[in-house]
Amino acid sequence: MFSLEKILRPHILALSPYTSARDEYEGTEGIFLDANENPFGSITSQNFNRYPDPHQIALKKRVAEIKGVKLEQLFLGNGSDEPIDLLIRATCTPREDEIILVPPTYGMYEVSAAINDVPVVKVSLTPDFALDMPALQQAITTHPKAKLLFLCSPNNPTGNALDPEQMKTLIETFPGLVIIDEAYIDFADYPSFTSYLDKYPNMVVLQTFSKVWGLANLRLGMAFASPELIRILNKIKPPYNISGLTQQVVLEGLQNIQWKEESVQEILKQRTELVKLLEEVPIVEKIYPSEANFLLVKVHQAKETYDYLVEQKIIVRDRSKVKLCENAIRITVGTASENQHLVEAMKQLSVQTETQSTVS
Ligand SMILES: *Cc1c(COP(=O)(O)O)cnc(C)c1O
Repeated sequence: MFSLEKILRPHILALSPYTSARDEYEGTEGIFLDANENPFGSITSQNFNRYPDPHQIALKKRVAEIKGVKLEQLFLGNGSDEPIDLLIRATCTPREDEIILVPPTYGMYEVSAAINDVPVVKVSLTPDFALDMPALQQAITTHPKAKLLFLCSPNNPTGNALDPEQMKTLIETFPGLVIIDEAYIDFADYPSFTSYLDKYPNMVVLQTFSKVWGLANLRLGMAFASPELIRILNKIKPPYNISGLTQQVVLEGLQNIQWKEESVQEILKQRTELVKLLEEVPIVEKIYPSEANFLLVKVHQAKETYDYLVEQKIIVRDRSKVKLCENAIRITVGTASENQHLVEAMKQLSVQTETQSTVS
C-alpha cells in the first residue's frame, strides 16, 4: 500500500503553513485594514491594490469542471515549473534522496533537482524513444532512495507518446510518486491520465496553460493528484503564487472553450502540412512522428542549420547535443506562413550545402 507519509520529508508533514490576512477573513465586503495594502488604489489604470485569492477558488472551480476532476484534486501553480519544484522539495532530502529521469526529456526536471541539490538517476529511453522497462525496473530496485519518477508524455523533445500500459506498470511498481507531465496532451490522440486519479494515489499529472491555451506569458500550470498530496502542495506554495490578474483573465477566457478546440485542430492541420513541406527539403534526413505541437527533425548538420536559420531570423531549438537526438532540431509548428518561411530558408540552405560539396 502506498503511503504518502513515507514519501514526504518529515518536516513538511509537520509544517504549519503561513496564514495570510486573506485566510483569516474571507469576505469581500468591509473596511480592509489587515494587509498593509494601499487604500487609494494603484499606480496603474486598473486597480491591483488588494491581495488576490490565495486559493484561486473561482478559477479552480472552472478548471476542475473543464478537466473533469474534483476541486480537491487540483493545484494551480506559477507555470508547471512551480509544482515540479514543490514536489521535489516536499519529498526529497538534498544529497540523500533521488529522482529517476528518462532522458531525452524536458530539461526542467534536472535543473529543478540540481537547484534542490537532489541527485538524479538517468535511465535513457531506447533509440526509438520508448521506455526501457528492464532498465527502469532495475533502477527502481537498486535505488530505494528514489522518491520521484518523471515521465513526459507526449515527450519533449522527441514528440512521441510513451506506452500507456508501460506507464501504468511503472505507477504500480514504483514506491514513490510518478509524475506524468502532459504539457502536450491536447495534441495527442490518447486520453489524459487524469482519469486514473482515483485509482493511483502515487500519481501526479501535470498540465499547463502555456501551450494550446496560448497563455505562456501568464504562467499558469496545473497539477492533478490525490487530495492529500494537493493539500501538501497548497501548504508549501508561496501564498499568493497566482496573480489576481491571471486568475481574472484566465477565468474570463475559459468561457470560450471553443477557441481552444479550434486551436488544437488548426495546429494539428499545420503539423501535417509542415511534415509534408519538410519531406521535400534535401537536408532533412528524418522527421520523427509527433503527438505534440512540434517536430523533432534530423538534418544534415544541425548546428549549421540552426545558425543559418537564426541569420534569417527564424529561431528553432538545436537539440543536437542531447543524447539520442544527434543532429536534430526541434521545430514548433507555426502558422502556415511561418512554416513556409522556415521551409524556404531550409531549402536555400540545402542548395548552398549542395553547391559547396560540389565545389570541394
Ligand atoms: C512547455 C512545457 C511545460 C510548461 O511549463 P510551464 O512552466 O507551465 O510554462 C511543462 N512540461 C513540458 C514537458 C513542457 O514542454
